[in-house]
Amino acid sequence: MSKKLTSRTEDYSKWYNELVVKADLAENSAVRGCMVIKPYGYAIWEKMQAELDRMFKETGHQNAYFPLFVPKSLFEAEEKNAEGFAKECAIVTHYRLQNDPEKPGKLRVDPEAKLEEELIVRPTSEAIIWNTYRGWIQSYRDLPILINQWANVVRWEMRTRLFLRTAEFLWQEGHTAHATKAEALSEAKLMNNVYATFAEKFMAIPVVQGLKTESERFAGADETYCIEALMQDGKALQAGTSHFLGQNFAKAFDVKFANKEGKQDHVWATSWGVSTRLMGALIMTHSDDNGLVLPPSLAPNQVVIVPIYRGADELNAVSEVAHSIMSDLRAKNISVKYDDRDTQRPGAKFAQYELQGVPLRIAIGARDLANGTVEIARRDTLTKAVIALSDLTETVENLLKDIQDALFKKALDFRDSHITEVETFEEFKKVLETKTGFISAHWDGTTETEDKIKELTKATIRCIPLEGKVEAGVCVYSGNPSKRRVLFAKAY
Ligand code: AMP
Repeated sequence: MSKKLTSRTEDYSKWYNELVVKADLAENSAVRGCMVIKPYGYAIWEKMQAELDRMFKETGHQNAYFPLFVPKSLFEAEEKNAEGFAKECAIVTHYRLQNDPEKPGKLRVDPEAKLEEELIVRPTSEAIIWNTYRGWIQSYRDLPILINQWANVVRWEMRTRLFLRTAEFLWQEGHTAHATKAEALSEAKLMNNVYATFAEKFMAIPVVQGLKTESERFAGADETYCIEALMQDGKALQAGTSHFLGQNFAKAFDVKFANKEGKQDHVWATSWGVSTRLMGALIMTHSDDNGLVLPPSLAPNQVVIVPIYRGADELNAVSEVAHSIMSDLRAKNISVKYDDRDTQRPGAKFAQYELQGVPLRIAIGARDLANGTVEIARRDTLTKAVIALSDLTETVENLLKDIQDALFKKALDFRDSHITEVETFEEFKKVLETKTGFISAHWDGTTETEDKIKELTKATIRCIPLEGKVEAGVCVYSGNPSKRRVLFAKAY
């Protein structure tokens, strides 16, 4: 626990991997590309889930659950979607094992137990869901359908990283059905907005909302909205996506409804998702060389109390005060843990909570008891102060709010100081070598230019921002006319 992390400047990627493991968030598993999410990491994910779930319900959505497997014939139905996901699918071909007659103690696939139709382990659920919606939708009265599912999906990723890109990941996927194009489009935008609000207000992560270019779009979508965040190493991270699917899935699965005029029409669709990748975004936005830094909204324990004592009498006296502090804080909905383990010294506890990003640490010793004070330490600034017990609850409330705001502001300042406008391709390349971050540049709108820039620099178009000034110019690469600037970056 106590061994120092590799610093971010020394090796950012090593720092990240060490932090995930040492802060007890997750670890690699026996399955290639799949991770074990440990209780502390899972508790943070549960906080994200709870808030997102609340926001989804507030915007009229309900949860449901669909199967893990997609029959191959359904998977194939929407061609673009199938083509896009085909190269990263896990496929179930058999349903039974048997003893291997040639290798005692080993099992083999029972050749008699071949599935009539192969099953795809869902990489995303549009196919199975739209096949189901056909039975649910007959008339405009059946619309809209606003459903979300919390699930795991499998994408056979070749290069995996804990949380950021795993072969199996946890996510939510919203799948909505609408009578009109306008309604589906506004749903896709609404949910992208929900993600942006969640990222900024809850995770303290500033994001740019934008549209993906055609080549970065979700397979089967007419438009993909996204939120893009900037990590401390200057690389961008796609933190969430919301797709306007047009009538593509309704056509593929023959989902029609009788509109108000009694005419048959195909249903309009959206889908939207965020995943356990958000854990990676959280870590890489706020954390430092001492470990995780958690915004209070996401901290499983917002406050931890550590007693400093010699002998049972002192511990009893400290514990009495600690319990009264806890009940005061809990009355204010502040989560607090009292760590009176006698198997660890206070120094080791301090180091653990620093590594695990607990926003506030309160230490109480015999001298504090005599003075009616406690020592309070902030994880984000690593500063300490002595506070009168009588002011403690109010101070904690204020500090938690302050930390949440300060983390957002710090991340926003970093992000804003890492958006560089360039006019020439020379400048473009120079920024990538020296400063990284987002590059705001003119692009001619063609996939050809986008591909060429990617090939030469590894930077991709992260999004066409929804906000900000729109001014025409000339493409940084081709010199052809450009309608507006887009954001480029190297990305995770
Ligand atoms: P998509 O369905 O491709 O639009 O992805 C939905 C969400 O899942 C996005 O926020 C992605 O960033 C995230 N995501 C995609 N692939 C992975 C992966 N292999 N591991 C973790 N998250 C992922």
